[in-house]
Amino acid sequence: MEPEPLFPALTAPGDAPALRFGDRELSYAQLAASAGALAGHLAGAGATRVAVWATPALETAVGVVAALLAGVPAVPLNPRSGERELAHILGDSEPSLVLTAPGDDLPPALGAVARLDVATTVPPGTAVPAPREMSPAAPALIVYTSGTTGPPKGVVLPRRALSATLDALADAWRWTGDDVLVHGLPLFHVHGLILGVLGPLRRGGSVRHLGRFSTEGVARELAGGATMLFGVPTMYHRIAEALPDEPGLVKALAGARLLVSGSAALPVHDHERIASATGRRVIERYGMSETLMNTSVRADGEARAGTVGVPLPGVELRLVDEAGQEISGTGPEAVGEIQVRGPNLFTEYLNRPDATAEAFAEGGWFRTGDMAVRDPDGYVRIVGRKATDLIKSGGYKIGAGEIENALLEHEGVREAAVTGEPDPDLGERVVAWIVPADPGAPPSLAVLADHVASRLAPHKRPRVLHLLDALPRNDMGKVLKRGLTTPTARP
Ligand code: ATP
Ligand code: MG
Repeated sequence: MEPEPLFPALTAPGDAPALRFGDRELSYAQLAASAGALAGHLAGAGATRVAVWATPALETAVGVVAALLAGVPAVPLNPRSGERELAHILGDSEPSLVLTAPGDDLPPALGAVARLDVATTVPPGTAVPAPREMSPAAPALIVYTSGTTGPPKGVVLPRRALSATLDALADAWRWTGDDVLVHGLPLFHVHGLILGVLGPLRRGGSVRHLGRFSTEGVARELAGGATMLFGVPTMYHRIAEALPDEPGLVKALAGARLLVSGSAALPVHDHERIASATGRRVIERYGMSETLMNTSVRADGEARAGTVGVPLPGVELRLVDEAGQEISGTGPEAVGEIQVRGPNLFTEYLNRPDATAEAFAEGGWFRTGDMAVRDPDGYVRIVGRKATDLIKSGGYKIGAGEIENALLEHEGVREAAVTGEPDPDLGERVVAWIVPADPGAPPSLAVLADHVASRLAPHKRPRVLHLLDALPRNDMGKVLKRGLTTPTARP
């Protein structure tokens, strides 16, 4: 049995605010009533697995909390998914119900699934059953990966992973019930849902969701009492760009307790611009759907640009070379795959025993597929993904991330992604994909190659340059590198 409920603050709830989406708000007492009543309904209906149409709305939060109280695994759905992706996820996860807001328009792919609209308020006196006692190993959520490298996989997360990761973050970030989170992320992934909604609720604090991210919204909420901001790098990029023109934003960020970035690497250039304008350093944490959070810069630690901090309490982390041997060294040459172990891990990929078996090395270590090095004091620096971000050129292993960071420091570059493509001499050559700051006067390959060679090393300079209007990104703002291939270089 669970040693304690997932949400202690719902056990004897008071009038303190829990959730606010736009101008709609629920106190803990109101959330306990609405989610509790829905949990009773789900249990009574014999629901075995529920999908949640995860719009950035109160109903999504209430629906997920209700499923957790009822012990029914929930599958958050991205409302922006195409029909094909939705059909894949529904066929894979087979929910018996889909929870939605009353007014939601559902696409045809959901036609076959029974729909239940979430009520965020219930009449006084509505019966609220006690939360069902569940084993810590019982599945709580099935979250689909972002699909950055292939079709999304259903990650089965046990209840223990949720409590372990949220409590480890509370320790690292000194996160308490007094914190008020500003939230502008979607709710169908780990970052926006587990950290951004379940996190504040587990602490007994509150969350204010902007509906849609805007720098004005961030400034307003931080000036109005919010203490923390969680964002993805594309949001911090927008913040960095807006700072020179928005003194209110500068002041609001300067007064925040904690600014956190994750889901992808925060470019060093954006980190530094925010730090110099506001005096505040964004801290980075690193995690995945499969592992929840692995590392973070601690609230009282040094927020070193380009690093994701140290392993969280309870998380074992090692770097492993291609032969499967643990790397003990530090510094830029000691690159290895990150492997992790701990109570924060998933149990399996849904319906994919092959992928699950492949994902674990001997001893229960999960292979993240992310490559990293370590600073002498243990800070982890992510080099990139093994599959797409490691370029083998002229006998060197080159990480795409540091070249991207160098390119972003050039004034002519707004966005940058780096890939490798086959080269008869080098094995692979470095290819730069650039969104120029001024489309009318883009920097040349020669200029950018010199810029990179002078900052990093000559063999890291790009050999090919592509100019784009925008980088292909998914809903989390992650660059989809599989969409970046030179037509002539395709196999
Ligand atoms: P798929 O597994 O379907 O290809 P995905 O890996 O993008 O998609 P997620 O589980 O949402 O799906 O993302 C986890 C990945 O995001 C990590 O493996 C890592 O590559 C990247 N990531 C997360 N946080 C950071 C960070 N702070 N810095 C760099 N990369 C990060
Ligand atoms: Mg992944």
